[in-house]
Amino acid sequence: MTNAPKKPLSTRRSVLGAAVGLAAAACATGAEARGKPAKRALRNTARRDFPVLVGSANALRGMKLYYQDLVLGSAPLDVAIDVVKVVEADETDHSVGKGGLPNEDGVVQLDSAVMDGRTHNAGSVGCLENILHPSLVARLVMERSDHIMLVGRGAYEFARAHGHEHTELLTEASRKIWLRWKETMSSKDDRLAPPEDQRQGRAKSSAERAELALIDHYLEERVTGTIHCSALAISGEVACTTTTSGLSWKIPGRVGDSPIIGAGLYCDGEVGSAGATGRGEAAILSHGSSAIVELLRGGASPEEAGLEVLRRVTRQARRAAAWQPGLVDGEGLPTFGLNFYVLGLDGQVAGVSLRGGGDYAVAEPENGPRHEPLVALHPPIGEK
Ligand code: ASP
Repeated sequence: MTNAPKKPLSTRRSVLGAAVGLAAAACATGAEARGKPAKRALRNTARRDFPVLVGSANALRGMKLYYQDLVLGSAPLDVAIDVVKVVEADETDHSVGKGGLPNEDGVVQLDSAVMDGRTHNAGSVGCLENILHPSLVARLVMERSDHIMLVGRGAYEFARAHGHEHTELLTEASRKIWLRWKETMSSKDDRLAPPEDQRQGRAKSSAERAELALIDHYLEERVTGTIHCSALAISGEVACTTTTSGLSWKIPGRVGDSPIIGAGLYCDGEVGSAGATGRGEAAILSHGSSAIVELLRGGASPEEAGLEVLRRVTRQARRAAAWQPGLVDGEGLPTFGLNFYVLGLDGQVAGVSLRGGGDYAVAEPENGPRHEPLVALHPPIGEK
């Protein structure tokens, strides 16, 4: 079924009738299942205000800067890219662009993609090194080549040919976090980390103590991150982008979901847009973003579509656990995080998460750019 822009969801619902109602009932979240009130700040509000931005929590700063451009009529892809460029250039965000945590060799390798619903075209780059704005290079791949994806050296040369500067992306802060990981990851290699008391003793100033705390924070668990932004313009046109430095300490050459069209992002000018952050392998195996867009096409709301794909991810993780037992816990729940950000052509949005906690970012005319709580399928990791 093809959805015309600005068509109210209620119209689609009346067509699909009971089937969608049943799907909605089956979408009870982990919180609902436990009798707690679910967070459904934006669900079923049938908003049809334009324009709209939705994305990961770290997109809020960019949304505050560039939402007004969308209001004034800028193209959705221009605005989505402007939003993510803020974080690509921010050295203090260790999950995207400059300052991102490197691969196991200490090299920052970036993944990024853009997709434009107006033309149903896309471009992406994988394992791109030494270029500040991979989202811009992904756009160049879309607009200045007949290809969809360039990786590694080829992506770098393509960026350089289009005038992008060679930039060192590994900052001092990220290098120190990486070195600490390298030195503490095994007692069976030849690298030696300074003993803890020596390390603490060396940190005299508050800045040095803050640095140690930051390093420990990033080593406690494998902190990852990404930025996604989907945009719906006044015209009803959609576009999206996802950009990341990927999983920290990844095997050199690993490509995550972010540059995979259909996994880390997908949009269809007849339907809507979706994007992912979190465990890229799960987003690839579920083809999460395109699966969500297809569910929207069938009449599901953004929240219903997102939660349905997360339920599939849960079942897929249980099957994969036969080979990789660490993927699920004792209760059969995934041990990893995965979020989806979803936008329908009627302006409805959702942010959903596999294991709870956290916010997503949204901007629409009534309330402007802000954080909203993600709707969780399962309780947060560590909580029952
Ligand atoms: N999805 C990203 C990747 O797998 C990482 C993340 O969002 O945490 O590369």
